[in-house]
Amino acid sequence: MSPMISVEEAREHVLAAFRPLETERVALLESLGRMLAEDIEAGVDIPPYANSSMDGYAVVASDTRGANLRSPRRLQVLGDLPAGYVSKEQVTSGLAIRIMTGAPVPPGADAVVRVEDTQSTAQWVDVFTEVPTGQFIRPAGEDVTTGTRVLSKGTLVRPQEIGMLASLGCTHIEVTRRPRVAILATGDELLDIDQPLTPGKTRNANSYSNAAQVSHLGGTPIALGIARDCIEDLTAKIQSGLSHNVDLFLTSGGVSVGDFDLVKDVLAAEGDIDFWRVRMKPGKPLAFGSISVAKDNSETRTSRTVPILGLPGNPVSAMISFEMFARPAILTMLGARELERQTVDAILIDEIKHKDDRRHFVRVRLEWTGNAYHAHLTGKQGSGILSSMVKSNALAIIPEDWSAVRPGTRVKVMVLD
Ligand code: AMP
Ligand code: MG
Repeated sequence: MSPMISVEEAREHVLAAFRPLETERVALLESLGRMLAEDIEAGVDIPPYANSSMDGYAVVASDTRGANLRSPRRLQVLGDLPAGYVSKEQVTSGLAIRIMTGAPVPPGADAVVRVEDTQSTAQWVDVFTEVPTGQFIRPAGEDVTTGTRVLSKGTLVRPQEIGMLASLGCTHIEVTRRPRVAILATGDELLDIDQPLTPGKTRNANSYSNAAQVSHLGGTPIALGIARDCIEDLTAKIQSGLSHNVDLFLTSGGVSVGDFDLVKDVLAAEGDIDFWRVRMKPGKPLAFGSISVAKDNSETRTSRTVPILGLPGNPVSAMISFEMFARPAILTMLGARELERQTVDAILIDEIKHKDDRRHFVRVRLEWTGNAYHAHLTGKQGSGILSSMVKSNALAIIPEDWSAVRPGTRVKVMVLD
């Protein structure tokens, strides 16, 4: 019998086999969803110059002292200043320039009066309110000052990072290259998704959910299809997968204790593999190790090894085992700073009647009620019940040493999206 180990122990073994991959330079928009592989320092101030945050009048603030509706201050208007142009004129006491949002504050002016607080004629403006120095002026460098580190290596590039990088004039960004992940489903019962169902057969869900999980992380899934439960086909499919220059090999199914769970035998014959029972539910059986790939090089015959992770076959187990082990492995290859999902404390609304000594990852729908998160079970928790995965947005983590869990219990919940 394979040893029973904790989730942490399994993770530690798995993660020890991964290092950050090489980096590549890509055009700004192509860095979306990728992992930043360089620190970004601001080479300029953002905004680059002090500018108006309102449409109105650039003035000397002290000119507006005591102004109100009944006793406005009258200033002479020197002209208009749209965004994109620099004023040649100086604002001194008694003068104003009509300014648009984003236009650079003209020399001498130290505040802006909103157009709503004025009334103007061709040459003059009446100001109905007193404004303090700096009113409606966005100083240069208010957002980012030159020389500060704006983004750190290992940050996921989201639309807001793209905006920041654009502001800084970064046309190309250094990101970690996409990890290439081979995905092989196993089972005589599996049909590909374009095949009509026949008696005793079911469609291959795992190759697709796992490929989607890889893509979501910024990896490249390499689908190898379905291997039949026979040593020859499994061996051939694994060998062909290794020829794709992959960084990680994922299989699903065939790692538990059934007679046709041959993935174990094949992996054991092909590489250096551990088989575990992980103290978690779903997803108890797990295989992890490495397989060597011989590379024929005209000069030298080198070999490298590819880590291989054998996920369980049940569709929910395959996804949650991916989540616990493949996800942090891929993030490590990407050089991510953060490997953990965010967790929140929530109140479990439903009862969990039966609980064994494994850590249960319970599919829940997390809802914010205004003062607390509530976690609702999304249905049956069987390891093949993909519909409760579909309805969920989070996993409640029920510790190993808890037995039944009563409604109203506070639990940690891992947020999935
Ligand atoms: P196994 O671990 O191979 O014994 O598979 C456990 C269960 O998961 C069985 O009911 C399989 O039919 C199912 N299963 C295995 N692989 C897949 C897959 N790729 N897609 C959908 N179901 C699967
Ligand atoms: Mg099977």
